Amino acid sequence: MKRLKRSDLARFLEILSEDRTVYAPQCEDGTVLLREWDGGEPADDYINLDVSPKDVLFPQSEALCRFCGGFADTSVETVEPDGPAAAFGIRPCDIAGLERIERVFTGGDFTDANYAARRENTALIGVACSEAGPNCFCGAVGVSPTLPGGSDVFCYPEESALYLQPRTDLGEELLEAADDVLEDVSADEADQVVSAAEAMEAPRGGADPVEALPQGAFESDAFWADLSEGCLSCGVCAYVCPTCHCFSIFDVQRGFSGVRMRGWDSCQFEEFLLMAGDHNPRPTEQERVRQRFMHKLSYYPEEHDELMCTGCGRCVQSCPVGIHMLRVLKDTEEVL
Ligand code: SF4
Ligand code: SF4
Repeated sequence: MKRLKRSDLARFLEILSEDRTVYAPQCEDGTVLLREWDGGEPADDYINLDVSPKDVLFPQSEALCRFCGGFADTSVETVEPDGPAAAFGIRPCDIAGLERIERVFTGGDFTDANYAARRENTALIGVACSEAGPNCFCGAVGVSPTLPGGSDVFCYPEESALYLQPRTDLGEELLEAADDVLEDVSADEADQVVSAAEAMEAPRGGADPVEALPQGAFESDAFWADLSEGCLSCGVCAYVCPTCHCFSIFDVQRGFSGVRMRGWDSCQFEEFLLMAGDHNPRPTEQERVRQRFMHKLSYYPEEHDELMCTGCGRCVQSCPVGIHMLRVLKDTEEVL
């Protein structure tokens, strides 16, 4: 483990930026977002990023390929993802969110080449929480506020310093490169730092720890009808969520030339499943809201053995009409 004085954090990021694009928390008009680091002081007094950092590995929109030509002689040029990157300042619930997305994009028979390339090229630098926000409930869904998860380097914050624990070969490399601004830490001190951080109680938002919902919860019509009342189908819940990963692919075309794009999508949008012939298997808010929660609490856990919610609380904070995960978790008995 190494110690980094907070006053040296910008210098640490500067060293990382010599070899890779660095993303760091930055405050814009009161909102803390993970953005390409601009050389200034990163935000360091945030409880969590206001929007999930998943776009570092799964951009909100990205070009997949460029094409040119007619039917007979079309040429296609693949657009490669950007090069090496480092994302600093990600909280444990968001590291856990990226792990859940990764299982879908790289853990099955098909590997999403763009996601895999970005993950391979991106160092994740997690930071333990020391304070829970008013909407956090990671403790109810099996995530700890001090869980390093799949981070390459994990930081334990103290008042005047960050304690950096490398967790992968890449993490070791990053810390070696930044050795000039890092101080050695004795094994005893490292143990004390970790123990003090792990003493933080995981927030549960008033919900009991939750296991997966059985698929039979699908049939709870009265519950889903009540829960979904007023849903605006705006998709904000999916856009802020660190685990939602639906996307659509579309062409932006002029004449015979164009770009094939991929962009985030949401099962909450009315046209998400609209098919040729105007058939829509989920035509109402009730069916779409049910799908969102059943996917996170039943279908995904059945496949991957853990919930597809990490308790970040952003949907609690963001839904304009108060439809969110904590309502479902608190009313689990009613759902069943
Ligand atoms: S549940 Fe809330 S945030 Fe999600 S689509 Fe409906 S109104 Fe929007
Ligand atoms: S469902 Fe809500 S609380 Fe759970 S990970 Fe997504 S945004 Fe966070």
